[in-house]
Amino acid sequence: MFDIKQYRRKEVERQRVESILGLLPAGVQTVLEAGCRDGYITHLLADRYPEVTALDLQLPVIEHPRVTCVQGDITRLQFASRSFDLVVCTQVLEHIPAEKLEDACAELLRVTKRYLLIGVPYKQDLRVHAMRCVQCGTLNPTTGHLHSFDRERLLALFGDRPFSRIDYAGEGVYKTNRFSYALYKRFGFPYGSYEQEEPCICCGAALEKPRLPLFLRLVCLFAKGLEFVQNKTGPDKSPVWIHMLWDFKEQET
Ligand SMILES: [Zn+2]
Repeated sequence: MFDIKQYRRKEVERQRVESILGLLPAGVQTVLEAGCRDGYITHLLADRYPEVTALDLQLPVIEHPRVTCVQGDITRLQFASRSFDLVVCTQVLEHIPAEKLEDACAELLRVTKRYLLIGVPYKQDLRVHAMRCVQCGTLNPTTGHLHSFDRERLLALFGDRPFSRIDYAGEGVYKTNRFSYALYKRFGFPYGSYEQEEPCICCGAALEKPRLPLFLRLVCLFAKGLEFVQNKTGPDKSPVWIHMLWDFKEQET
């Protein structure tokens, strides 16, 4: 089972949250958090701002006098244009299917009056901790992450509008290689992130760890060993997260 409390205590998660807090602008009244999950960031936003709207695909349950919970879809938001001083969207865009990604970004741009803060994983190797669904056979990237982002890709999604601040958080992105990945693909994915909450990206079934015979487990262990050596001896560690803040007021003047 995925343990969100344990996840929040991780160093890389603390660095992610610290980076977001460091980018939050002053002088803001109304905030939309698009994709608020358990409301962890929502609470931090509500500590700082008077009116926070917390949106998710399923109606969030966040008990806080400054927070209004709403059910909604970021690819077609129910709000009028320029409804919020600040729109925050972190750990969301990597989950949006490719054909809807541009719509989601356009919607975030549409509903902000001034600031937009986006956070996504940075240069994630989507093959790491991949899984194969035992129900439908689809290859699943870890935690339903469908996209890998870098600075240029993220900027392009928002029409190359000049950003106001950028921050990279965490370090030490784990990578795999073509040979190890080919072995997993052929023989099974025993090291997938099976404790994740996200179901199969194709059929929606829970992802289950395959029961591999000993020989195949050893082949996969060999693949894992190669990865380990690669990550120990490879180039310098890269950041885990990229956070970008736009200030559209700044651009008007
Ligand atoms: Zn499936």
